[in-house]
Amino acid sequence: MSLLPLADAQERVWSTIEPMGTVTIPIGESRGLVLAQQVVARENIPPFANTGMDGFAVRAADTAGASVETPVALAIAGTIAAGAVADRPLEAGEAMRIMTGAPIPEGADAVIMVELTETDGPDADTVRCKAEVAAGNHVRPAGDDLTEGTELFEPGLVITPAHIGMFATLGLQEVEVVRRPRVGVFSTGDELITGPEPLGPGQIRDSNRPQLLALVAEAGLEPVDLGWLPDDEAVIEQALRDGAAKVDALLTSGGVSMGDFDFVKTLLRKLGDMHWMQIAIKPAKPFAFGTVLGKPIFGLPGNPVSSAVSFEMIARPALLKMMGYTDTLRRSIWALADEPLLRSPDGKTHFTRVRVWESIDGAPRFRSAGGQGSHQLSGLALANGLAAIPDGDGVQAGDRVRVLLLS
Ligand code: AMP
Ligand code: MG
Repeated sequence: MSLLPLADAQERVWSTIEPMGTVTIPIGESRGLVLAQQVVARENIPPFANTGMDGFAVRAADTAGASVETPVALAIAGTIAAGAVADRPLEAGEAMRIMTGAPIPEGADAVIMVELTETDGPDADTVRCKAEVAAGNHVRPAGDDLTEGTELFEPGLVITPAHIGMFATLGLQEVEVVRRPRVGVFSTGDELITGPEPLGPGQIRDSNRPQLLALVAEAGLEPVDLGWLPDDEAVIEQALRDGAAKVDALLTSGGVSMGDFDFVKTLLRKLGDMHWMQIAIKPAKPFAFGTVLGKPIFGLPGNPVSSAVSFEMIARPALLKMMGYTDTLRRSIWALADEPLLRSPDGKTHFTRVRVWESIDGAPRFRSAGGQGSHQLSGLALANGLAAIPDGDGVQAGDRVRVLLLS
């Protein structure tokens, strides 16, 4: 079986993935989800002209010629706190104390900030203005941020905290979004234990399931721990069927390579339209993909680094597409190798676990983060990037390489 270029594997999987349906939820739960409605400003923001500073509302003309040496005295005609309104218009020769966010009283056209004024205490009845202010000074007009009727957000927007702030400003309690997929995670393998007990002969601890559940959560999807499965064809078959009924997508780890007990692969072929791929990358060459009950199942390889790299390269973008994202890839950058990273030609792109940093000359640089075996999870744990080392003899110090950023 010839190796499939990564881009072809990605296309094969991603082309079958459809976004989930939509749901209306409280705005506070919408961060990271994709907006499925248009948002139009229903009112002016701010709704009324108000002051951007604590100070005195005045008529700008009344401050003409004011300076530190020749202050202008105005009669204090009241106080307007944020949330209150003046009980009468401001007359010529008057000033009203005003707090940030309070409405500009009728008759006033400017605010002089408190630092440019002087009074004889809180009960004073005059204020001395020590500077001239222009009309409009520190006044935030109604609609200065948004005018009523503005089409603000379109479907497809990935909701950030600032968007949620805007929803609240506009009085929206709920928004329609693409539903957050629930993603079930299984681990498979007779050698795995999940508890704290000492390892028996031949046993190792299950690291893939906790790692994958965390990757799912980090991507903003809802992880569902579906537990561990033995290398037993009947048990795995039942678990895949039951799992598919419960969640929107499934991730399995293990059982997709060439071993005698790699049942995930054989079962996906039996249960659905399985694609089994040998992808031209290292790690994470074997990969199985299929649908059971219409739910996508990503059969990730068992080696801990392979399962994470498979997730990054194929599953994560697919799951984000289900969540309505169009920009599904992690950021990648060009960076300079800070040391030689040698390899041998084997027809594959190597995703080397690296530490990337921003160097003093501005160009990001990277070095190997540790052991590069697909079982050497410590190297991945110390990495913040995957450097795509193209097929060939590797790279020399100073070579430019594409690096996928993991955080
Ligand atoms: P498999 O793909 O099932 O042949 O597994 C390949 C390698 O990954 C073997 O060395 C397994 O012991 C190891 N492995 C499989 N699943 C896990 C897991 N959940 N956690 C840690 N290692 C695993
Ligand atoms: Mg196995």
